[in-house]
Amino acid sequence: MRTLITGGAGFIGAHLAEALLLQGDEVAIVDDLSTGSIDNIEHLKGRPGFRYVIDSVMNEPLLAEMIDRCDVVFHLAAAVGVRLIIEAPTRTIETNVGGTEVVLKLAAKKRRKVVIASTSEVYGKSADVPFREDADLVLGPTSKHRWAYACSKMLDEFLALAYHAEKQVPVVIVRFFNTIGPRQTGRYGMVVPRFVAQALAGEPITVYGDGTQSRSFTYVGDVVRALLALVDHPGAVGEVFNVGNGEEITIRALAERIRTLTSSASPIVTIPYDEAYEAGFEDMPRRVPDIGKIRALVGYEPRVGLHDMLCAIIGDAEREAARGRGTARAARAAAGQSLTV
Ligand code: UDP
Repeated sequence: MRTLITGGAGFIGAHLAEALLLQGDEVAIVDDLSTGSIDNIEHLKGRPGFRYVIDSVMNEPLLAEMIDRCDVVFHLAAAVGVRLIIEAPTRTIETNVGGTEVVLKLAAKKRRKVVIASTSEVYGKSADVPFREDADLVLGPTSKHRWAYACSKMLDEFLALAYHAEKQVPVVIVRFFNTIGPRQTGRYGMVVPRFVAQALAGEPITVYGDGTQSRSFTYVGDVVRALLALVDHPGAVGEVFNVGNGEEITIRALAERIRTLTSSASPIVTIPYDEAYEAGFEDMPRRVPDIGKIRALVGYEPRVGLHDMLCAIIGDAEREAARGRGTARAARAAAGQSLTV
């Protein structure tokens, strides 16, 4: 299979690229390195069948050529991370909606299959856990920037389903639930890399709100397996799937778990949401996937539990630190600053 991954230098994209290369596929990636990093694909450079272009998905002539040369597009390019969304809402909306428009339009011309990455964020404030794909999506007001992310991804989903219905484009939509794993950066606010970096640096572990909010984390390797299974299954076309892991943990318990696993002496501090993000910030109290649909279609079962995910992430962060460049990188990531590539 010849694949194109938009956002292929991102955390999930780079893991997917590696898996596709391992199964003998050709992989082209396009990434503008806005939230992705060249570090993520360093080990793939020079592998047979791998090629990368540093550019934006909005570059239509480039995308036309790249889509022409592939069989399947994994469209992962997006502005992600709650911190980024709060700080740069215009970019979030324009990248997420504009990029998907370009990809779907060109895929329609060439009749290519497109896997569209969406997010569990679309369930918004719904309290109807576990979330099923056909459930109502409950967002807050437009005055709160956070909801722009969910809304932009919902529009992507609508657009993909519209292209499928009207123009017979084979699309598959996946909603990711807090994907974590080695090489994820904490720069855009993601909690696990931030807590791990803070714990390893002996700095305070910053729990936002009261820490009773919960999440269900999914290992990136499980997400990649789900993507590979769905893209191969004709029954997935025109459908939306949760890709997650039902194991739930509160953010305070997560902080404690990471502190224990790193044998860190870091204090755990709580920071009000208003200070952490913006005045009037709304968080979701729980986010748990119902994975019955993907299980029924392709037999997907998450294989990696939270304990093993955290051990893998901590081990990787420690190895990075030991290599020297990791210490500065981890500290900057924890502080939420940019890295120079
Ligand atoms: N969070 C936290 N401390 C941090 C970063 C995040 O307590 O340093 C919280 C955040 O408020 C949310 C949860 O951890 O309740 C997960 O945040 P993340 O940004 O990783 O993903 P989200 O589920 O919000 O998309």
